[in-house]
Amino acid sequence: MGSELIFYNGKFVKSKNYYNLLKDRGFNFGESVYEVIKYSKGVLICFDDHMERMEKGLNEIMIKNPLNRDEWKKICLKVAKKFKSDECSIYIQVTGGSTEREHFVKAKPEPNYLIFAQKIPEIPEKFKIIFYPEIRWKRADIKTINLLPNVMAKFQAKKRGYDEALFFEEDGSIKEGSSTNIFYFKNQVFFTPQLNGILPGVTRKRFIEFLKNKGFKVIENRVYLWDLFDADGVFLTGTTTELKPVEVINGVEIKVFKDYKNLEREFIDFLLKISS
Ligand code: PMP
Repeated sequence: MGSELIFYNGKFVKSKNYYNLLKDRGFNFGESVYEVIKYSKGVLICFDDHMERMEKGLNEIMIKNPLNRDEWKKICLKVAKKFKSDECSIYIQVTGGSTEREHFVKAKPEPNYLIFAQKIPEIPEKFKIIFYPEIRWKRADIKTINLLPNVMAKFQAKKRGYDEALFFEEDGSIKEGSSTNIFYFKNQVFFTPQLNGILPGVTRKRFIEFLKNKGFKVIENRVYLWDLFDADGVFLTGTTTELKPVEVINGVEIKVFKDYKNLEREFIDFLLKISS
C-alpha cells in the first residue's frame, strides 16, 4: 500500500499524474500571489508597478521569484501578442510550488507560475455600489489569491443588482471595493482611504500622481461611509476598471462628477504615456 490514495472528481487518480496540480501550495493553502496587468496596443500598462508589488508580495510570503523582470515582460508580451487582440488583461500567478500537504516544509520547492491572457470583461460606465462588512484578514495589502471574502462581497452586490461592494469597518470607515480602490471629491479636493489594510492599488497610486500633476490636492486619510453621500463625485479605480464614477450607493443616488468622461480619457492617456 502506498502512502496515500487520491479520489478526485469521481475517480481514483495516480498521484504522479496530478502531483503538480493537487499538491500545489496555492491550491491547498492559498500560498500564492497574483497580478492582473492591462495590455493595450502593444504596451503593458504600469508593468513595473505591478512587478514591484508582486516582488514585495512574494518576499512577504517567502516564495522565490521564478523569473526576473525582463523575463516576465518578455513572456507577458508573448502571451498578449499570441492572444491577437488590441486589448486584454494578462493574469500572472505564482504559487509556493508543489509539496506534500504539510504546512511547513524544510526545503521550499521551485514555485509554479501561470500566465494567461483574457478578454477584458464589460465594465459599467457608472457604478452602483453597496456596503459590505470588512471580514478580511489584516494583510489585505498582500495580493494573495485568497479572495473568498471579495468573492462573497461581489456576489452579494451582483445578487442585489449592484456592480461593486465596498468593505467598511465597525467604526464606519471604508476600506476599498472587492476589486477596486475608492476616491471621493469634495470642495476641489480628492480624498481616498490611507494605505492601511487595503491593497496598494497600482491605479490608485497613478491616479494620485495624475491628480497632483493637474494641481489637485489629494488627501489620504480615514474616509467614512457618510462622507460619500455629500461628495461632489465618487470614483473607483482598478487595472481593468480604470476610473469609473459611482452613481448609486445602497439605493441612494449621489452626485456624479460632471466631467467624468474627460477625466477618465485623460487619465487613460496618462497611463499609456508613462508605460510606453
Ligand atoms: N483592491 C482590491 C481588493 C483589488 O482586488 C484590486 C484589483 N487588483 C484593486 C483594489 C485595484 O488594484 P489595481 O489598481 O492594482 O488593479
